[in-house]
Amino acid sequence: MQEKGNISIHTENIFPIIKKFLYSDNEIFLRELVSNAVDATQKLKRLSSLGEFNGDTDGLQVEIKVDADRKTITISDQGIGMTAEEIKKYINQVAFSGATEFMEKFKEAKDAKEIIGKFGLGFYSAFMVADKVEINTLSYQQGAQPARWICDGSTEFEITDGDRATRGTEITLYINEESEEFLEESKLRGILNKYCQFLPVPIKFGTRTEREPDGEDEEGKPKFKEVTVDDIINNTAPIWTKAPGELSDEDYLNFYRELYPFSEEPLFWIHLNVDYPFNLTGVLYFPKIKNELELQRNKIKLFSRQVFITDEVKDIVPEFLMLLHGVIDSPDIPLNVSRSFLQADGNVKKINNYVTRKVADKLSELFKTDRKSFEEKWADIGLFVKYGMISEEKFYDKAKDFVLLENVNKEFFTLEEYHNKTKDLQTDKEGNVVYLYSNDPARQHSFIQGAEKRGYDVLLMNSPLDNHFIGQMESKLEKVRMKRVDADVVDKLIEKEEKIESILSEDQSKMVKDLFDKAINKPMMDVEVTGLSPDELPVTVTMDEFMRRMKEMAKTGGGM
Ligand code: ADP
Ligand code: MG
Repeated sequence: MQEKGNISIHTENIFPIIKKFLYSDNEIFLRELVSNAVDATQKLKRLSSLGEFNGDTDGLQVEIKVDADRKTITISDQGIGMTAEEIKKYINQVAFSGATEFMEKFKEAKDAKEIIGKFGLGFYSAFMVADKVEINTLSYQQGAQPARWICDGSTEFEITDGDRATRGTEITLYINEESEEFLEESKLRGILNKYCQFLPVPIKFGTRTEREPDGEDEEGKPKFKEVTVDDIINNTAPIWTKAPGELSDEDYLNFYRELYPFSEEPLFWIHLNVDYPFNLTGVLYFPKIKNELELQRNKIKLFSRQVFITDEVKDIVPEFLMLLHGVIDSPDIPLNVSRSFLQADGNVKKINNYVTRKVADKLSELFKTDRKSFEEKWADIGLFVKYGMISEEKFYDKAKDFVLLENVNKEFFTLEEYHNKTKDLQTDKEGNVVYLYSNDPARQHSFIQGAEKRGYDVLLMNSPLDNHFIGQMESKLEKVRMKRVDADVVDKLIEKEEKIESILSEDQSKMVKDLFDKAINKPMMDVEVTGLSPDELPVTVTMDEFMRRMKEMAKTGGGM
C-alpha cells in the first residue's frame, strides 16, 4: 500500500503559526509527544479494564532515545497504536483530537479523565524542531497491519505499509539544523525532568548502573554487584493524585524535598481536591517566608493531568499566594493559549477564588486548633497573611478573625482582643482608639517605656509590609488610629485617673523645655517635659505622626 495526499486545506495557514507563534517555547514538542505516548498507553489500560483488550498491560512504558549520528529523537510507546485509517483521521486532520472522541466514548468510565488531551495541535509541534517526522505504528486491534507515515513539514504526507512487529507507536523526529541542541543528552534530560517528572506511565531514558546486594564474601561481609537498570525519569504516582487519608506528614515532606531539593522544611501544607464546578487537585506548601518576599515567587508548578505546564501561575492563584510552593493540577485550565485568554477564562477566576478560600480556611483551622503553634509560626505566616489582607478583599474578610497583632513584649492578640485591651485607656479626644506601634524597639526604647508607664500597649510593626498594613488597618477598622510611639501622641491621649505628678515646678519645666528647644532647633520636633523622677523619662522629643510620614515619603519617594 502506498498513499500520498494533502493534509487539509487549513493546515497551509496553520503550519507557520505552529512554528512561530503558538509555542514560543519549542522544547514543549517533547512534552506533547511524550504525553501522546502516555495517552496511548493509558487508553490501552482503559480498554483492558473494560474487557476490550485481553493482552498484558503490566510494565508498559514509554521510551525516549537520541541518535546523535542520525540526528534523530525517537519516542516510542506500547500503547494502542494506530491503523492507517486512524493515522489519516487523527494525524492528518489537524486539530482533530482523538482524545476528545475517546473521552466521549468512555465518558461513563471512571478513569477517563486520566487521558491527557486538550492539547489540540500537540502532535504537530514536532515540526518546530524536525524537518521530517515519521510514525511507525501497529494497532492493538486483532489482525491490524503496521503502518508508516512520513511528512516533511509541508502539507504533503505519505502513508505506506509499515514493518513494526510489536504493538504501539514509534515517532521519529529528524531534527532540523537550528534545533540540534536537542540532540544533547543532558539537554533532553533536563526537558524531560521539567515536563515529565510526574507522568503516570514510566518514562525510560537510557540506562544507569546500580549497586545490588550480591550475597556475602568469605569473611561474611555483604557483597555488591553492578547491574544495569532502565533509567526511569518520573514518579508515576505523585502525592497529589492520592487521597489525603492515605498520606502521612512524612509523605508530604518527602514530596516537598522532591520538588525543592535543599530547601528548608515547609511550615504546613494544604491538600487541594475538588471536582465541582471544576476539577483541581494539588498540594500547596507554606514555606518559611521570612523577609525574602521577592526571591520566593513562582514556585508553584502547574500541571494538567500530571503533565507539567508552567510555573508562571499568575492569574491562577492570587498575587499573594504566589509566595506559596507546591503543585496545582487541573485539566480545566486552558493550556496552549495566551495570557489574555487565561485572564478571561471563567474557570481560572473560580480556581483563583477556590484557592484563596482554601488557604484562608486552613489558616483559620490552624489558629483555632493550635493557637500556640500558630503564634510560634507567626513570623513566617504573618507576612503572608498581611500581604493577603492588603491585596485581596476576600481574604481580608476571612483573615480579620485570625490575623495576629504582636506587641513589643511578644504577646499576641487578635484584632478583637486588641481592641478590647486598648479601647478604655488608649483613646484620644475625638474618641478614636489609638494603637501605638514601634518599628524599631531598640531605638524607640525610651518612648516605649514612657507609653508603658502610662499603661499603654505598644505593637511591634517592623516587617517589610507593615507600613502598608498599618494603612490598611486604619482604613478598615472603625475609629482606630495607628501612631508610632515616638509621635507626639502619648501625652495627648486621655489620661487615666492617677495623674503622673511632676517633680518640677511649672517654671522649672519651662526652663528645661526652652533649653531643649534651642538645642534641637527644629520646629517639627515637639519637646515635652514631664519631669518625672530621675530614673524615668523627664523629657521626650517627638514629631507629629503626619509630619513624620510626609518626611519619610519625601525621603523614599512614595509609599508610607
Ligand atoms: P491530542 O493529544 O490533543 O488529541 P495530538 O495532536 O497530540 O492531539 O494528537 C492527535 C491524535 O493522534 C491523538 O488524539 C491520538 O489519537 C493520535 N496519536 C498521537 N500520538 C499517538 C500515539 N503515540 N499513539 C496512538 N495515537 C496517537
Ligand atoms: Mg496530544
